[in-house]
Amino acid sequence: MVNIAEADMVTAIETTEGAYGTSRLIVVSFAVGSILLALALGYIISWSLIEPVKKIETRLRQIAAGEFAQQVTVVNRDELGVLAGNVNQTSEQLGRLYQEVQARTAELARSVGELEALGEVSKAVNSTLDLDTVLQTIVAKAVQLSETDAGTIYVFSSTRQQFRPRATYGMGDELIAAISNQAIGLNDPGIGDAALRRAPVQVPDLSVRTPSPVQKVVLDAGYRGVLVVPLLRPNKIVGALVVRRRKPGEFDQQIVHLMETFADQSVLAIQNAKLFREIEEKSQELEAASRHKSQFLANMSHELRTPLNSVLGFTELLVDGIYGELPDKAKTTVARVQANGRHLLGLINDVLDLSKIEAGQLTLALEDYSVGQIVRSTVTAVEPLARSKGLSLAATVAENLPLGRGDERRLTQVLLNLAGNAVKFTERGAIDILADAVDGHFEIIVRDTGPGIAPTDQALIFDEFQQVDNSSTRQKGGTGLGLAISKRIVEMHGGTIGVESVPGSGSTFRMKIPIRVGEDVKAA
Ligand code: ADP
Repeated sequence: MVNIAEADMVTAIETTEGAYGTSRLIVVSFAVGSILLALALGYIISWSLIEPVKKIETRLRQIAAGEFAQQVTVVNRDELGVLAGNVNQTSEQLGRLYQEVQARTAELARSVGELEALGEVSKAVNSTLDLDTVLQTIVAKAVQLSETDAGTIYVFSSTRQQFRPRATYGMGDELIAAISNQAIGLNDPGIGDAALRRAPVQVPDLSVRTPSPVQKVVLDAGYRGVLVVPLLRPNKIVGALVVRRRKPGEFDQQIVHLMETFADQSVLAIQNAKLFREIEEKSQELEAASRHKSQFLANMSHELRTPLNSVLGFTELLVDGIYGELPDKAKTTVARVQANGRHLLGLINDVLDLSKIEAGQLTLALEDYSVGQIVRSTVTAVEPLARSKGLSLAATVAENLPLGRGDERRLTQVLLNLAGNAVKFTERGAIDILADAVDGHFEIIVRDTGPGIAPTDQALIFDEFQQVDNSSTRQKGGTGLGLAISKRIVEMHGGTIGVESVPGSGSTFRMKIPIRVGEDVKAA
C-alpha cells in the first residue's frame, strides 16, 4: 500500500512537473511573441508616420527652391494625408502666381526698355537740330526694340513724288546703295501703300508673294519679314519707317504700336529741322533787309541834309538882312522857317546817327577831353530855354578831374540830349548836372524836378522811337531817338546809362563812362 501510494505520489509529482514545464514554455513563448508583436507594430506605426512627413518635407524644400510642378503622394487618410493635399494645392497656386509674376516682370522690363529708348529718342530730337543724327538714333532704337535686324527711315519728296532713304541701321553699304537706286513711288506695294492708306503695312514673308523691285532687293539680301509705318502729318506724307527681320512671321500688334511712336518722333524731328532751316533763311533775309534799310536811311539822310543846310544858310542871310531889310511880317515868317528848318535838321541828324550805328558805320573819334568842358558846352546850349521857362540850372563838376579819353563831340551830344530832355519836360523847379570820377569812371548825373517816368516806361525809353505815350510828353515834340542814340554812344565807350525816377518827383539820368577808352573801341 505504501509502495502503491509512493508510486502514485511519484507519478503525481512527475505529472505536476510536466505540467509546470509546459506552462512555463507557454508563458515564455507568449512573452516572446508579445515582444515581437510590439516591435513589429511599433515599426509599422512609425514608418506610416515618418515616411509621409519626410515626403512633405522634401516637397516643401522643392517649393522653397522654386520648383512648383511636382506633387507629393501620401496614401494616409489621416491628418497627414490632408496636410499633403494642402501642400499640393498651395504648391499649385504658388506655381501659378510665380508664372504670373514672371510674365509681369518681363512685361515691365520691356516697358522700361521702351521708355528708355523713347526717352533717348526724344532727347535726341530736342537736343540736336542735325536731322541725320536724330533719324539715325530713331532707326537704331526702332530696330533694337522691335527685335528686327535692319531698318530704314525714308523721306518723301513731294516735288519728285518719291521716297529716298535718309537714315539706315544694320544694313551693309551694298544694300543701302541698291535701295537708294530704286525709285520708290506711291505705287510701291509696301511703302507707297502704307503712306496712301495712312496705316502700317506688314509683309510676314516676302518669299510668299511676288515682291516689288525694292522688296526683291531686300529679299535677296536675306530679309523675310517687313513692317512699314508711314510718317504722316495732317494731309501730308512725310516719309516711312521700315524695319526688316530675317525670320519670317507676323509682327505683333504691340511692336506695330511702338513703331508708330517712333514714326511720330521722326515726323517731329523732320518738322523741326525744316522749321529751323526756314527760320535761318528768314533771319538771313531779315538781316539783309535791315542792312539795306540802314544803308538807305544813311544815304537818304545824307542827301536830305545838303539841300536843307543850303535852305538854312539862305534863310540866315535873309534874317541877317544881307539881301536888304525885310518887312517885319516877312522877318517873323523867315525866323519860323529857320526854326523849323533847324528842327528838321536835328531829326535828320538823329536818323543819320541811328542808321550809321545800325549799319556799323559810326566810329568814335578818340581824343583827350575835359569833362568840365563838356558840361559847360551843354549848359551854354540849354540855358536859354531853361531861363525862358523860369527853371534854375546848376552844374557841379568835381575838382581836379583827370583828362578823359573818348569822342568828345559824341559825349557832348549825349549830355546835351539828357539836359535838353530835362529842360524840355520840366515845367517848374530845377535841373542839376553833376560830374565826378568814381572807380576809374566818370559819373555824370542829370537830375530834374519834372513829371518823372513810370517804372514800365523806364525800360522802354532807351529803345528806338519810344516815347512815353501821354499827352504831356507828346506835346513836347521829339522823335524818340535821342536816348536810343545816347545809349549806343555810351555803350560804344564801354559805359552804361540808366534812369531812376518816381512819377511826379522828377527823374535822375546817370551815365558812367570809363575815364580812358582804349583805341580798340570802334563802332558797335
Ligand atoms: P525825344 O525826347 O526825342 O522824344 P528821347 O529818346 O530823348 O526822345 O526820349 C524818349 C522819351 O523818354 C521822351 O519822349 C519822354 O517821354 C521820356 N523822357 C526822356 N527824358 C525825360 C525826362 N527828363 N523827364 C520825363 N520824361 C523823359
